[in-house]
Amino acid sequence: MLRLIIFGPPGAGKGTYATRIAEILGIEKISTGDIFREEVSKRTELGKKVEEYLRRGVLVPDEIVIKVVRDRIERLHGRGFILDGYPRTTAQARALDEITTIDAIINLVIPDEIIIEKLSGRRICSRCGAIYNIIELKKIINGVEYILPPLPPRKEGVCDVCGGELIQREDDRPEVIKRRLEVYKRQSKPVIEYYKARGVTFINIHVNREPPVIINRILNALREKGLLD
Ligand code: ADP
Ligand code: ZN
Repeated sequence: MLRLIIFGPPGAGKGTYATRIAEILGIEKISTGDIFREEVSKRTELGKKVEEYLRRGVLVPDEIVIKVVRDRIERLHGRGFILDGYPRTTAQARALDEITTIDAIINLVIPDEIIIEKLSGRRICSRCGAIYNIIELKKIINGVEYILPPLPPRKEGVCDVCGGELIQREDDRPEVIKRRLEVYKRQSKPVIEYYKARGVTFINIHVNREPPVIINRILNALREKGLLD
């Protein structure tokens, strides 16, 4: 069973791809952002502890995140998983090494300019967390063409999956997006070097087309690395 990490800046589409890859491969998706948002909305003890960090767009302290992820992975009893939003610091990566081994890290590559525009159009379901996007994006940056069509719900403002109300995440406001990008550069990017140094299988994916194309690129790369039939 595959144990994967999907990595990349906020807004690269980690959640969207992790959800699809998990469905296709029959593995579990573990999304720390989703877990935290759910705890906040349920007003649990954990939710109260992390609420303020999420609102400000800064990282939840390592010890809290590590415990959450360790519990989830232990509950899988050896089944495969894809981690979405973890690890985000080298300390989290080291802790993960003590829990399990990782087969590959899928690194999503996308310029800041695209992220900022794209995140302003993101909408999520307030009930099930499904992700949509109402913005159409067409741009050439450094010679790379980005064609990202919108991903709208069938009915405006309503989730296709569960009928829940679609909302904008509080941390998808421009000021908070900028903060999250800075946090990514300072605290999360070093995670790439950490895994490279350890020789973990690395898959770089440029996110410049619609999700089905990206999903295929990811699956093909996993096949090329001999991780998938
Ligand atoms: P994005 O990748 O778009 O920023 P996420 O849903 O992955 O969104 O994360 C939302 C917020 O949850 C982060 O800004 C941070 O506050 C918190 N968070 C999620 N995962 C982690 C993590 N591994 N370590 C610390 N904080 C985290
Ligand atoms: Zn929903």
